[in-house]
Amino acid sequence: MTKRIGNKTLDLAMMEKYLHSQGAALCGEGRFDEAIGMLRDAISIEDQPYTRYQLSQAYLGKGDLEKAIEEISRAIAMNNCIPDYYYERKEMWLLKGDVKKARIDNEKMLRLDKYYSRIRDIQHAARVFRQAFSTSTSDRPLDATRVRQRALREAIDTYTQLQQAFRGNVEYSTCTLPCPSYCCHFSGETVTHGLSIGPWKLRAIRNFLRDQKLAGKDFLRKMKLSGEPRVLQLILPHHTVREGDDLVVYFPARHKGSLSNAILRSAPKDIHYKSLVWINKRAKPCAFLQDRRCMIHDLGDEPGLPSCKEFLCMTGFVSVVLDYLGVVNKERVASTALEDLNQIAIEALLIITSELIEHPDLTKHRKTMRTLLKKAIKEDNQGNKNLVSPLLKRYSIAKDQYEYLFAAQKEHVIKAVEELFLGLASPPPPAKQS
Ligand code: SF4
Ligand code: SF4
Repeated sequence: MTKRIGNKTLDLAMMEKYLHSQGAALCGEGRFDEAIGMLRDAISIEDQPYTRYQLSQAYLGKGDLEKAIEEISRAIAMNNCIPDYYYERKEMWLLKGDVKKARIDNEKMLRLDKYYSRIRDIQHAARVFRQAFSTSTSDRPLDATRVRQRALREAIDTYTQLQQAFRGNVEYSTCTLPCPSYCCHFSGETVTHGLSIGPWKLRAIRNFLRDQKLAGKDFLRKMKLSGEPRVLQLILPHHTVREGDDLVVYFPARHKGSLSNAILRSAPKDIHYKSLVWINKRAKPCAFLQDRRCMIHDLGDEPGLPSCKEFLCMTGFVSVVLDYLGVVNKERVASTALEDLNQIAIEALLIITSELIEHPDLTKHRKTMRTLLKKAIKEDNQGNKNLVSPLLKRYSIAKDQYEYLFAAQKEHVIKAVEELFLGLASPPPPAKQS
């Protein structure tokens, strides 16, 4: 049923990914010397521009500007189509006081992507937007466990619903865009991108393939795990399968058919507006991708494979949110070319962030509502029943103000996004020089 493939090569490919991701994580924690060691080990397995880029970040963190420039220049020499690299090197030239070289990199960066003139705003909005529409939240839920008054419990429920209005609902959606499904293409075996199949999903896939009279060998691959702890860390523990004496992990096969240069040019950015570096000429589609849709997305009552749910690009994510908010419907999105949607997604991201998520009055009302409820909970817990109801009245006024303003702002967003779609025929705005 399944084809066994060279474990050694795959183990090494996974090790390269492990070392790169650990190096990036250590860099994020400020442990630059350890990061450099990990990244150099990754390079000794395979020299990749994204590892050189990460290495330059580690040297920069360490304060070694010369080495940082050396490494980012290597990344650029290996791939001169990534605006992120020019942006980072431009910043490094500025740190060094070399304005002339910074200007040259700035021009190259903007030639590759005019939106880099607003990159700080875009990356800030992307962070805020992702947080607002994700299941995780930095706001601690209000503790209603000891609340006695029913009216207060109901108010806490409505506040929690408002607070979660954005969250969770978009994360498990399938992208419905006119896209060649970049997120289902891989430049290495899918397992090196973290695409493993757990036992429940595997059983559902096998049943599905049998019903469809499709051969498992065309869709499934398995890798025997050597027990190397660092490789095991890359696989969800409940995705490993015991077969006789062997511990294996299943993952999707890849089909033939690389992405053309023309298609690659319209590649979207990731959710943080960084280039999707694994999407390159060597990328091939996942075997479960058919007619731009995933055949196994909902099989076995599981929405997608765990890692597939995180692969949304910024364009896909913003478009799913636009549909969820009722700002624009799926059909409109589906009939728009991906190049256009990439641009609309950036503008819509900035609009929704400033007009809904970070709007100062909406933020103020949200804070007031929370403060009033916290006070009411405290009074209720202390048995001061009479003090709770005036606080609830004030809460109710703040909530009405919030909802009224939210509805007005949403109308404003709908109009602004509509204009973006109507303006598609217009030429893009000239790039600002930063
Ligand atoms: S999430 Fe992005 S890359 Fe994936 S299919 Fe949708 S538009 Fe394409
Ligand atoms: S399993 Fe489905 S969603 Fe995941 S990469 Fe393959 S086709 Fe895409």
